[in-house]
Amino acid sequence: MSRVLVIGCGGVANVAIRKCCQADDVFTELCIASRTKSKCDALAEALKGKTKTVVTTAQVNADSVDELVALINSYKPDLVMNIALPYQDLTIMDACLICGVNYMDTANYEPEDTDDPEWRKIYEKRCEEKGFSAYFDYSWQWAYKEKFEQAGLTALLGCGFDPGVTQAYCAYAKKHEFDTIDTIDILDCNGGDHGYAFATNFNPEVNLREVSAPGSYIENGKWVEVPAMSIKREYDFDSVGKKDMYLLHHEELESLAVNIPEVKRIRFFMTFGQSYLTHMKCLENVGMLSTTPINFEGHEIVPIKFLKALLPDPASLGPRTHGKTNIGCIFTGKKDGQDKTYYIYNVCDHQECYKEVESQAISYTTGVPAMCGAMMLLTGKWTEKGVHTVEEFDPDPFIEALDKYGLPKRESHAPVLVE
Ligand code: NDP
Repeated sequence: MSRVLVIGCGGVANVAIRKCCQADDVFTELCIASRTKSKCDALAEALKGKTKTVVTTAQVNADSVDELVALINSYKPDLVMNIALPYQDLTIMDACLICGVNYMDTANYEPEDTDDPEWRKIYEKRCEEKGFSAYFDYSWQWAYKEKFEQAGLTALLGCGFDPGVTQAYCAYAKKHEFDTIDTIDILDCNGGDHGYAFATNFNPEVNLREVSAPGSYIENGKWVEVPAMSIKREYDFDSVGKKDMYLLHHEELESLAVNIPEVKRIRFFMTFGQSYLTHMKCLENVGMLSTTPINFEGHEIVPIKFLKALLPDPASLGPRTHGKTNIGCIFTGKKDGQDKTYYIYNVCDHQECYKEVESQAISYTTGVPAMCGAMMLLTGKWTEKGVHTVEEFDPDPFIEALDKYGLPKRESHAPVLVE
Protein backbone atom coordinates (compact mmCIF):
# COMPACT_ATOMS: atom_id res chain seq x y z
CA MET A 1 0.00 0.00 0.00
CA SER A 2 1.54 3.29 -1.00
CA ARG A 3 0.77 6.73 -2.34
CA VAL A 4 3.27 8.12 -4.78
CA LEU A 5 3.45 11.56 -6.37
CA VAL A 6 5.26 11.60 -9.71
CA ILE A 7 6.40 15.02 -10.94
CA GLY A 8 6.93 15.28 -14.71
CA CYS A 9 5.12 13.51 -17.50
CA GLY A 10 7.71 13.33 -20.29
CA GLY A 11 9.40 10.37 -21.98
CA VAL A 12 10.96 8.84 -18.85
CA ALA A 13 8.00 9.50 -16.55
CA ASN A 14 5.65 7.82 -19.04
CA VAL A 15 7.63 4.59 -18.74
CA ALA A 16 8.13 4.82 -14.98
CA ILE A 17 4.39 5.42 -14.41
CA ARG A 18 3.32 2.57 -16.72
CA LYS A 19 5.75 0.26 -14.91
CA CYS A 20 4.50 1.41 -11.47
CA CYS A 21 1.01 0.50 -12.66
CA GLN A 22 2.25 -3.01 -13.56
CA ALA A 23 3.32 -3.39 -9.90
CA ASP A 24 -0.07 -2.28 -8.59
CA ASP A 25 0.32 -4.31 -5.39
CA VAL A 26 3.09 -1.86 -4.35
CA PHE A 27 1.96 1.32 -6.14
CA THR A 28 -1.64 1.39 -4.98
CA GLU A 29 -2.26 5.12 -5.51
CA LEU A 30 -0.38 7.43 -7.82
CA CYS A 31 -0.74 11.11 -8.72
CA ILE A 32 0.85 12.36 -11.94
CA ALA A 33 1.63 16.07 -11.67
CA SER A 34 3.38 18.17 -14.26
CA ARG A 35 3.52 21.58 -15.89
CA THR A 36 1.19 20.53 -18.72
CA LYS A 37 -1.73 18.73 -17.06
CA SER A 38 -3.22 17.55 -20.37
CA LYS A 39 -0.25 15.16 -20.80
CA CYS A 40 -0.92 13.71 -17.31
CA ASP A 41 -4.63 13.32 -18.13
CA ALA A 42 -3.83 11.58 -21.43
CA LEU A 43 -1.59 9.06 -19.67
CA ALA A 44 -4.15 8.48 -16.88
CA GLU A 45 -6.76 7.86 -19.59
CA ALA A 46 -4.48 5.40 -21.42
CA LEU A 47 -3.98 3.46 -18.17
CA LYS A 48 -7.71 3.15 -17.38
CA GLY A 49 -8.78 -0.46 -17.04
CA LYS A 50 -5.18 -1.74 -17.30
CA THR A 51 -4.17 -1.41 -13.65
CA LYS A 52 -5.52 -1.54 -10.11
CA THR A 53 -3.42 1.53 -9.23
CA VAL A 54 -5.69 4.50 -8.54
CA VAL A 55 -4.28 7.20 -10.83
CA THR A 56 -5.08 10.89 -10.40
CA THR A 57 -3.53 13.98 -12.00
CA ALA A 58 -2.60 17.53 -11.05
CA GLN A 59 -0.99 20.63 -12.46
CA VAL A 60 2.15 21.94 -10.79
CA ASN A 61 4.98 24.32 -11.54
CA ALA A 62 7.86 22.47 -9.89
CA ASP A 63 10.01 25.60 -9.91
CA SER A 64 7.76 26.91 -7.14
CA VAL A 65 8.33 25.46 -3.66
CA ASP A 66 4.99 26.92 -2.51
CA GLU A 67 3.03 25.16 -5.28
CA LEU A 68 4.85 21.90 -4.55
CA VAL A 69 4.20 22.16 -0.80
CA ALA A 70 0.49 22.79 -1.42
CA LEU A 71 0.27 19.76 -3.73
CA ILE A 72 2.25 17.45 -1.43
CA ASN A 73 0.22 18.52 1.60
CA SER A 74 -3.04 17.88 -0.20
CA TYR A 75 -2.05 14.50 -1.73
CA LYS A 76 0.06 13.29 1.24
CA PRO A 77 2.30 10.87 -0.66
CA ASP A 78 4.80 8.44 0.91
CA LEU A 79 7.31 9.29 -1.81
CA VAL A 80 7.84 12.01 -4.41
CA MET A 81 9.40 10.77 -7.65
CA ASN A 82 10.99 13.70 -9.45
CA ILE A 83 11.04 12.77 -13.14
CA ALA A 84 10.82 16.36 -14.37
CA LEU A 85 14.13 18.01 -15.23
CA PRO A 86 17.35 18.38 -13.22
CA TYR A 87 16.52 22.09 -12.89
CA GLN A 88 13.76 21.22 -10.41
CA ASP A 89 15.79 18.95 -8.10
CA LEU A 90 16.39 21.51 -5.37
CA THR A 91 12.90 23.01 -5.25
CA ILE A 92 11.39 19.52 -5.01
CA MET A 93 13.89 18.49 -2.31
CA ASP A 94 13.03 21.66 -0.37
CA ALA A 95 9.32 20.88 -0.63
CA CYS A 96 9.88 17.27 0.50
CA LEU A 97 11.77 18.50 3.57
CA ILE A 98 9.02 20.97 4.45
CA CYS A 99 6.35 18.27 4.10
CA GLY A 100 8.36 15.37 5.61
CA VAL A 101 8.29 13.10 2.54
CA ASN A 102 10.94 10.85 0.94
CA TYR A 103 12.41 11.99 -2.39
CA MET A 104 14.00 10.47 -5.46
CA ASP A 105 15.17 11.60 -8.90
CA THR A 106 16.99 10.40 -12.02
CA ALA A 107 19.55 13.13 -12.68
CA ASN A 108 21.59 15.46 -10.50
CA TYR A 109 20.99 19.16 -10.16
CA GLU A 110 22.01 21.66 -12.76
CA PRO A 111 20.65 25.19 -13.11
CA GLU A 112 18.47 26.16 -16.03
CA ASP A 113 20.25 29.51 -16.28
CA THR A 114 23.99 28.90 -16.37
CA ASP A 115 24.58 32.66 -16.73
CA ASP A 116 23.13 33.37 -13.27
CA PRO A 117 26.03 35.27 -11.63
CA GLU A 118 25.40 33.82 -8.16
CA TRP A 119 25.47 30.23 -9.43
CA ARG A 120 28.40 31.01 -11.76
CA LYS A 121 30.58 32.19 -8.84
CA ILE A 122 30.09 28.90 -6.99
CA TYR A 123 30.50 26.90 -10.20
CA GLU A 124 33.78 28.55 -11.14
CA LYS A 125 35.19 27.95 -7.65
CA ARG A 126 34.16 24.27 -7.93
CA CYS A 127 35.78 23.92 -11.38
CA GLU A 128 39.03 25.21 -9.93
CA GLU A 129 38.91 23.09 -6.76
CA LYS A 130 37.65 19.82 -8.28
CA GLY A 131 39.04 20.02 -11.82
CA PHE A 132 35.99 19.29 -13.99
CA SER A 133 33.79 21.84 -15.69
CA ALA A 134 30.44 20.07 -16.34
CA TYR A 135 27.49 22.21 -15.27
CA PHE A 136 26.10 19.44 -13.09
CA ASP A 137 27.64 18.00 -9.95
CA TYR A 138 26.51 16.46 -6.69
CA SER A 139 27.59 19.26 -4.34
CA TRP A 140 24.19 21.00 -4.46
CA GLN A 141 22.24 17.93 -3.43
CA TRP A 142 24.86 16.49 -1.08
CA ALA A 143 24.50 19.76 0.82
CA TYR A 144 21.05 18.45 1.91
CA LYS A 145 22.51 15.35 3.63
CA GLU A 146 22.19 16.53 7.23
CA LYS A 147 18.75 18.05 6.69
CA PHE A 148 17.36 14.77 5.33
CA GLU A 149 19.10 12.74 8.05
CA GLN A 150 17.73 14.98 10.79
CA ALA A 151 14.25 14.82 9.30
CA GLY A 152 14.48 10.99 9.21
CA LEU A 153 13.95 11.06 5.44
CA THR A 154 15.65 9.44 2.46
CA ALA A 155 16.62 11.18 -0.77
CA LEU A 156 17.67 8.74 -3.48
CA LEU A 157 19.64 10.49 -6.22
CA GLY A 158 20.07 9.53 -9.85
CA CYS A 159 18.05 6.33 -10.06
CA GLY A 160 17.88 5.85 -13.84
CA PHE A 161 20.23 3.59 -15.79
CA ASP A 162 23.29 5.79 -15.93
CA PRO A 163 23.38 7.16 -13.32
CA GLY A 164 21.49 4.50 -11.39
CA VAL A 165 21.81 0.90 -12.51
CA THR A 166 25.49 1.44 -13.37
CA GLN A 167 26.14 2.22 -9.68
CA ALA A 168 24.10 -0.81 -8.57
CA TYR A 169 26.33 -2.87 -10.90
CA CYS A 170 29.39 -1.41 -9.14
CA ALA A 171 27.96 -2.25 -5.71
CA TYR A 172 27.09 -5.74 -6.98
CA ALA A 173 30.62 -6.29 -8.35
CA LYS A 174 32.10 -5.15 -5.06
CA LYS A 175 29.75 -7.39 -3.03
CA HIS A 176 29.93 -10.57 -5.10
CA GLU A 177 32.95 -10.52 -7.42
CA PHE A 178 35.88 -8.58 -5.98
CA ASP A 179 37.81 -7.92 -2.78
CA THR A 180 39.17 -4.76 -4.38
CA ILE A 181 38.21 -3.02 -7.63
CA ASP A 182 41.05 -1.33 -9.56
CA THR A 183 39.27 0.10 -12.60
CA ILE A 184 35.70 0.71 -13.75
CA ASP A 185 34.72 1.48 -17.34
CA ILE A 186 31.04 2.35 -17.83
CA LEU A 187 29.96 1.70 -21.42
CA ASP A 188 26.71 3.15 -22.73
CA CYS A 189 25.90 1.94 -26.22
CA ASN A 190 22.80 2.89 -28.17
CA GLY A 191 22.68 0.79 -31.31
CA GLY A 192 19.22 2.13 -32.16
CA ASP A 193 18.33 3.93 -35.38
CA HIS A 194 15.33 6.31 -35.54
CA GLY A 195 15.85 7.25 -39.18
CA TYR A 196 16.27 11.00 -38.52
CA ALA A 197 19.54 12.72 -39.43
CA PHE A 198 19.54 14.24 -35.94
CA ALA A 199 17.43 13.74 -32.82
CA THR A 200 18.14 13.23 -29.15
CA ASN A 201 16.83 10.27 -27.18
CA PHE A 202 15.94 12.25 -24.10
CA ASN A 203 15.36 15.90 -23.30
CA PRO A 204 17.42 17.66 -26.01
CA GLU A 205 18.52 20.53 -23.80
CA VAL A 206 19.89 18.30 -21.04
CA ASN A 207 21.32 15.80 -23.54
CA LEU A 208 23.15 18.35 -25.69
CA ARG A 209 24.58 20.16 -22.70
CA GLU A 210 25.95 16.85 -21.43
CA VAL A 211 27.61 15.67 -24.64
CA SER A 212 29.04 19.04 -25.71
CA ALA A 213 30.85 19.50 -22.37
CA PRO A 214 34.54 18.57 -21.94
CA GLY A 215 35.14 14.89 -21.16
CA SER A 216 36.70 13.85 -17.87
CA TYR A 217 37.65 10.79 -15.89
CA ILE A 218 39.10 9.97 -12.50
CA GLU A 219 42.63 8.67 -12.13
CA ASN A 220 44.24 8.09 -8.74
CA GLY A 221 41.65 10.21 -6.97
CA LYS A 222 41.99 13.19 -9.32
CA TRP A 223 39.88 14.47 -12.22
CA VAL A 224 41.56 14.53 -15.62
CA GLU A 225 39.70 16.79 -18.08
CA VAL A 226 40.03 16.48 -21.87
CA PRO A 227 38.38 18.33 -24.77
CA ALA A 228 34.88 17.10 -25.72
CA MET A 229 34.92 13.91 -27.84
CA SER A 230 38.73 13.80 -27.88
CA ILE A 231 39.07 10.22 -26.55
CA LYS A 232 37.57 7.68 -28.92
CA ARG A 233 37.55 3.87 -28.72
CA GLU A 234 35.86 1.15 -30.71
CA TYR A 235 34.07 -1.66 -28.86
CA ASP A 236 32.29 -4.77 -30.05
CA PHE A 237 29.05 -4.82 -28.02
CA ASP A 238 27.09 -8.00 -27.39
CA SER A 239 23.88 -8.01 -29.52
CA VAL A 240 24.80 -4.67 -31.16
CA GLY A 241 28.22 -5.07 -32.79
CA LYS A 242 31.13 -2.69 -33.27
CA LYS A 243 30.53 0.95 -32.38
CA ASP A 244 32.66 4.06 -31.85
CA MET A 245 32.41 5.38 -28.33
CA TYR A 246 33.69 8.61 -26.77
CA LEU A 247 34.80 9.45 -23.26
CA LEU A 248 32.33 11.78 -21.50
CA HIS A 249 32.06 13.35 -18.09
CA HIS A 250 29.21 11.63 -16.25
CA GLU A 251 27.70 12.20 -12.84
CA GLU A 252 28.17 8.74 -11.34
CA LEU A 253 31.96 9.05 -11.65
CA GLU A 254 31.83 11.63 -8.87
CA SER A 255 29.87 9.53 -6.38
CA LEU A 256 31.65 6.26 -7.23
CA ALA A 257 35.03 7.90 -6.49
CA VAL A 258 33.70 8.77 -3.03
CA ASN A 259 31.91 5.49 -2.29
CA ILE A 260 34.46 3.02 -3.73
CA PRO A 261 37.62 4.99 -2.91
CA GLU A 262 40.06 2.17 -3.73
CA VAL A 263 39.28 2.44 -7.49
CA LYS A 264 42.29 3.81 -9.37
CA ARG A 265 40.51 4.79 -12.59
CA ILE A 266 36.86 5.38 -13.50
CA ARG A 267 35.82 6.27 -17.05
CA PHE A 268 32.52 6.65 -18.90
CA PHE A 269 32.08 6.05 -22.63
CA MET A 270 29.02 6.63 -24.81
CA THR A 271 28.52 5.61 -28.43
CA PHE A 272 27.68 8.23 -31.07
CA GLY A 273 27.23 7.92 -34.81
CA GLN A 274 29.05 10.27 -37.15
CA SER A 275 25.82 12.00 -38.25
CA TYR A 276 24.97 12.93 -34.64
CA LEU A 277 28.46 14.30 -33.98
CA THR A 278 28.60 16.33 -37.21
CA HIS A 279 25.20 17.89 -36.53
CA MET A 280 26.07 18.64 -32.91
CA LYS A 281 29.39 20.29 -33.84
CA CYS A 282 27.70 22.41 -36.49
CA LEU A 283 24.89 23.48 -34.12
CA GLU A 284 27.48 24.32 -31.47
CA ASN A 285 29.61 26.31 -33.93
CA VAL A 286 26.67 28.46 -34.99
CA GLY A 287 25.61 29.10 -31.39
CA MET A 288 22.46 26.96 -31.31
CA LEU A 289 23.54 25.14 -28.12
CA SER A 290 23.86 28.40 -26.19
CA THR A 291 21.74 28.91 -23.06
CA THR A 292 22.24 32.68 -23.16
CA PRO A 293 19.07 34.51 -24.29
CA ILE A 294 19.32 36.62 -27.45
CA ASN A 295 16.93 39.23 -28.82
CA PHE A 296 15.35 38.15 -32.09
CA GLU A 297 12.96 40.54 -33.81
CA GLY A 298 11.81 41.96 -30.51
CA HIS A 299 11.48 38.61 -28.74
CA GLU A 300 13.92 37.11 -26.28
CA ILE A 301 14.82 33.53 -27.21
CA VAL A 302 17.22 31.00 -25.72
CA PRO A 303 18.94 29.27 -28.68
CA ILE A 304 18.96 25.75 -27.17
CA LYS A 305 15.27 26.04 -26.22
CA PHE A 306 14.43 27.13 -29.76
CA LEU A 307 16.42 24.16 -31.07
CA LYS A 308 14.45 21.88 -28.71
CA ALA A 309 11.23 23.15 -30.28
CA LEU A 310 12.54 22.22 -33.75
CA LEU A 311 13.84 18.74 -32.90
CA PRO A 312 11.63 15.65 -32.78
CA ASP A 313 10.09 15.09 -29.34
CA PRO A 314 12.08 12.17 -27.82
CA ALA A 315 8.74 10.60 -26.83
CA SER A 316 7.83 10.42 -30.54
CA LEU A 317 10.86 8.29 -31.48
CA GLY A 318 9.38 5.08 -30.06
CA PRO A 319 7.57 3.69 -33.10
CA ARG A 320 10.46 4.43 -35.48
CA THR A 321 13.47 3.32 -33.43
CA HIS A 322 14.91 -0.11 -34.22
CA GLY A 323 17.92 -1.85 -32.71
CA LYS A 324 19.24 -2.41 -29.20
CA THR A 325 20.97 -0.65 -26.34
CA ASN A 326 23.76 -2.26 -24.33
CA ILE A 327 24.76 -0.50 -21.11
CA GLY A 328 27.02 -1.83 -18.38
CA CYS A 329 30.30 -1.78 -16.48
CA ILE A 330 33.62 -3.55 -17.00
CA PHE A 331 35.75 -4.05 -13.90
CA THR A 332 39.31 -5.10 -13.19
CA GLY A 333 40.44 -5.94 -9.67
CA LYS A 334 41.37 -8.70 -7.27
CA LYS A 335 39.60 -11.61 -5.61
CA ASP A 336 41.46 -13.85 -3.14
CA GLY A 337 44.75 -12.35 -4.27
CA GLN A 338 44.12 -13.15 -7.96
CA ASP A 339 43.66 -10.63 -10.79
CA LYS A 340 40.14 -10.73 -12.16
CA THR A 341 37.93 -9.06 -14.79
CA TYR A 342 34.14 -8.86 -14.90
CA TYR A 343 31.48 -7.28 -17.14
CA ILE A 344 27.85 -6.80 -16.12
CA TYR A 345 25.41 -5.21 -18.55
CA ASN A 346 21.89 -5.13 -19.93
CA VAL A 347 20.72 -5.41 -23.52
CA CYS A 348 17.40 -3.77 -24.33
CA ASP A 349 15.48 -3.79 -27.61
CA HIS A 350 13.86 -0.54 -28.77
CA GLN A 351 10.92 -2.23 -30.53
CA GLU A 352 10.23 -4.60 -27.61
CA CYS A 353 10.02 -1.53 -25.34
CA TYR A 354 7.67 0.17 -27.74
CA LYS A 355 5.39 -2.85 -27.82
CA GLU A 356 5.26 -2.95 -24.03
CA VAL A 357 5.04 0.73 -23.01
CA GLU A 358 4.95 2.77 -26.24
CA SER A 359 8.45 4.16 -25.71
CA GLN A 360 11.96 3.74 -27.09
CA ALA A 361 14.65 2.01 -25.03
CA ILE A 362 16.37 5.14 -23.67
CA SER A 363 13.26 6.23 -21.77
CA TYR A 364 12.60 2.56 -20.90
CA THR A 365 16.08 1.93 -19.47
CA THR A 366 15.64 5.07 -17.32
CA GLY A 367 11.99 4.66 -16.33
CA VAL A 368 12.22 1.03 -15.21
CA PRO A 369 15.08 1.69 -12.70
CA ALA A 370 13.18 4.74 -11.43
CA MET A 371 10.20 2.49 -10.70
CA CYS A 372 12.41 -0.24 -9.15
CA GLY A 373 14.20 2.35 -6.97
CA ALA A 374 10.84 3.67 -5.78
CA MET A 375 9.83 0.09 -5.02
CA MET A 376 12.99 -0.38 -2.89
CA LEU A 377 12.07 2.68 -0.80
CA LEU A 378 8.36 1.85 -0.53
CA THR A 379 8.87 -1.80 0.46
CA GLY A 380 11.53 -1.00 3.06
CA LYS A 381 14.42 -2.67 1.21
CA TRP A 382 16.38 0.60 1.19
CA THR A 383 15.90 2.50 4.43
CA GLU A 384 19.09 4.52 5.00
CA LYS A 385 18.19 8.10 5.93
CA GLY A 386 19.95 11.08 4.39
CA VAL A 387 20.91 11.79 0.76
CA HIS A 388 22.29 8.78 -1.09
CA THR A 389 23.28 7.50 -4.51
CA VAL A 390 22.39 4.01 -5.69
CA GLU A 391 25.75 2.33 -4.94
CA GLU A 392 25.26 3.07 -1.23
CA PHE A 393 22.36 0.60 -0.99
CA ASP A 394 22.18 -3.21 -1.17
CA PRO A 395 22.25 -3.94 -4.93
CA ASP A 396 20.68 -7.43 -4.72
CA PRO A 397 16.94 -6.67 -4.35
CA PHE A 398 17.22 -3.83 -6.89
CA ILE A 399 18.95 -5.99 -9.51
CA GLU A 400 16.38 -8.73 -8.82
CA ALA A 401 13.59 -6.21 -9.46
CA LEU A 402 15.29 -5.04 -12.68
CA ASP A 403 15.51 -8.67 -13.82
CA LYS A 404 11.79 -9.06 -13.15
CA TYR A 405 10.56 -5.78 -14.63
CA GLY A 406 12.37 -5.80 -17.98
CA LEU A 407 16.08 -5.06 -17.59
CA PRO A 408 17.75 -8.43 -16.88
CA LYS A 409 21.49 -8.46 -16.29
CA ARG A 410 24.02 -10.33 -18.42
CA GLU A 411 27.52 -11.19 -17.23
CA SER A 412 30.92 -12.10 -18.61
CA HIS A 413 33.98 -13.17 -16.64
CA ALA A 414 36.30 -12.76 -19.63
CA PRO A 415 35.34 -9.45 -21.24
CA VAL A 416 37.42 -7.61 -23.82
CA LEU A 417 38.86 -4.66 -21.91
CA VAL A 418 38.83 -1.07 -23.15
CA GLU A 419 42.35 0.17 -23.89
P1 NDP B 1 11.14 15.32 -20.93
O1 NDP B 1 11.56 16.67 -21.38
O2 NDP B 1 10.54 14.36 -21.90
O3 NDP B 1 10.09 15.46 -19.71
C1 NDP B 1 10.24 16.38 -18.68
C2 NDP B 1 8.89 16.53 -17.99
O4 NDP B 1 9.07 17.44 -16.89
C3 NDP B 1 7.82 17.14 -18.89
O5 NDP B 1 6.60 16.49 -18.63
C4 NDP B 1 7.79 18.60 -18.46
O6 NDP B 1 6.56 19.23 -18.63
C5 NDP B 1 8.05 18.43 -16.98
N1 NDP B 1 8.54 19.69 -16.44
C6 NDP B 1 9.58 20.45 -16.87
N2 NDP B 1 9.68 21.56 -16.14
C7 NDP B 1 8.69 21.52 -15.23
C8 NDP B 1 8.28 22.37 -14.18
N3 NDP B 1 8.90 23.51 -13.93
N4 NDP B 1 7.21 21.99 -13.44
C9 NDP B 1 6.57 20.82 -13.67
N5 NDP B 1 6.92 19.96 -14.63
C10 NDP B 1 7.97 20.32 -15.41
O7 NDP B 1 12.42 14.70 -20.20
P2 NDP B 1 12.78 13.13 -20.07
O8 NDP B 1 11.59 12.37 -19.66
O9 NDP B 1 13.55 12.75 -21.27
O10 NDP B 1 13.80 13.18 -18.84
C11 NDP B 1 13.34 13.23 -17.51
C12 NDP B 1 14.53 13.20 -16.55
O11 NDP B 1 15.25 11.97 -16.70
C13 NDP B 1 15.56 14.31 -16.79
O12 NDP B 1 15.97 14.80 -15.55
C14 NDP B 1 16.70 13.59 -17.47
O13 NDP B 1 17.94 14.23 -17.24
C15 NDP B 1 16.64 12.24 -16.77
N6 NDP B 1 17.31 11.15 -17.48
C16 NDP B 1 18.09 10.30 -16.75
C17 NDP B 1 18.74 9.23 -17.34
C18 NDP B 1 19.48 8.24 -16.51
O14 NDP B 1 19.84 7.18 -17.03
N7 NDP B 1 19.70 8.46 -15.26
C19 NDP B 1 18.65 9.01 -18.79
C20 NDP B 1 17.72 9.89 -19.48
C21 NDP B 1 17.11 10.94 -18.82
P3 NDP B 1 6.02 19.75 -20.07
O15 NDP B 1 5.35 18.56 -20.64
O16 NDP B 1 5.14 20.88 -19.77
O17 NDP B 1 7.26 20.16 -20.85
